[in-house]
Amino acid sequence: MSQKNDLHKPSENEYLSCIRCGLCLSNCPTYREYLTETASPRGRVALARKGLEGDLKLTPNLYEQMYACFDCLACNEICPVGIRPADLALEMRYFQEQMNPKRWKGTLFSGLLSKPKSMERVTFPLRLYQMLGVRRLVYALGLRLLMPGQLRDMEAMLPHLPQRPLRSVLPEITESHGRSARKVGFFLGCAQSLLFADESAATVRVLARNGCTVITPRDAKCCGMPAMGYGRQDTVLDMARHNIEVFEKSGIEKIITDCATCGSTLKEYGKLLSDDPRWAERAKSFSGRVRDISEFLMEIPIIKPEGAIDARITYHDPCHLRRGQDVRQEPRELIKMINGAEFVEMNEADWCCGSAGSQLITHYGTSLKVLNRKMDNVEGSGADIIASGCPGCQMQLNVGVRRRRSKIRVVHPVLLLDEAYSKKGT
Ligand code: SF4
Ligand code: SF4
Repeated sequence: MSQKNDLHKPSENEYLSCIRCGLCLSNCPTYREYLTETASPRGRVALARKGLEGDLKLTPNLYEQMYACFDCLACNEICPVGIRPADLALEMRYFQEQMNPKRWKGTLFSGLLSKPKSMERVTFPLRLYQMLGVRRLVYALGLRLLMPGQLRDMEAMLPHLPQRPLRSVLPEITESHGRSARKVGFFLGCAQSLLFADESAATVRVLARNGCTVITPRDAKCCGMPAMGYGRQDTVLDMARHNIEVFEKSGIEKIITDCATCGSTLKEYGKLLSDDPRWAERAKSFSGRVRDISEFLMEIPIIKPEGAIDARITYHDPCHLRRGQDVRQEPRELIKMINGAEFVEMNEADWCCGSAGSQLITHYGTSLKVLNRKMDNVEGSGADIIASGCPGCQMQLNVGVRRRRSKIRVVHPVLLLDEAYSKKGT
């Protein structure tokens, strides 16, 4: 971490020009649940300013309001004078961490998340829980209902887990079906490899079907977003340099990801390293080549799948895809392309689902309130399937579906596309 005289501190122009207009309030999921100023973007900006100017003590309570932010970016988008309360909340977390570094964060983010193999070992018991049939028994015997509420919901977050992490199964080179028109890199995120392996395997298949040779470097690391959320920007920069170097070796034209959170972070590397003369250009070039899978497929252009999925499908916008990357229509267009799919727009499709990475664990009550609002809208759409291209959102939506004992299926849009291709067997 930085020396005390070398602290990175939010600058005045990140908070001074707030005109307290309140436009951000109604867009903020935490404000809408509590209707208190401190839980609002405007309140967080005021708290940061007062704390940094010395009018308020930088207490744990003050920082707690920064951690209570869901980083949904809605306030950044609406503010008429360019204040970015979501970014400021992250910067305040970083500031706190520099002043008072927590050892557990170093162990977790630099020690564990930086090492894919360690992550795979640590999550092995979860795979065992499913592979040995314990999970099935827990559900069949109703034992899940005996768990305390939060533990039950954390269990419900888990998708059907792969037997082995995708990182250890997926070849480093996947050849294109037919003539290769492009050579692309695939950034396999940690959650995708460990939890949503079927989806990322589908992403690679869909790319190959669309004339791409896909390079998936095994030694890529976590994108850095979890560390960023907990104020460890130093670790994020290390991860960024590593990932840039790894993809530079593979000589690819685009870097594809199917995780909204990874994508928004990878696209930030250029900005994060802009002050580093050795890395600024390389980071800019890297970030400029990153594409979400839906964005890329709509660019190339994609081959229309011939198979059909007869279902009513709605779509939830991941905050880090819609606002973090301005990818809005592309996933919807992919779904509409599938024969038999009846696309239906739900109310407030762009409203946060309450996941924000780990809020179901750290801010359980608020996370559930936000999720309930989302689930009312999902159910109101009458959809059989809800598609969303972010593992965090999917886990949260799985909780919502299980809490309501609903039959709605939660999937990544690319998985639907892959199913539509394979039905025809092309
Ligand atoms: S952060 Fe922006 S939108 Fe919110 S009160 Fe301040 S000026 Fe208005
Ligand atoms: S990022 Fe979202 S949760 Fe955080 S202050 Fe802004 S609107 Fe509220």
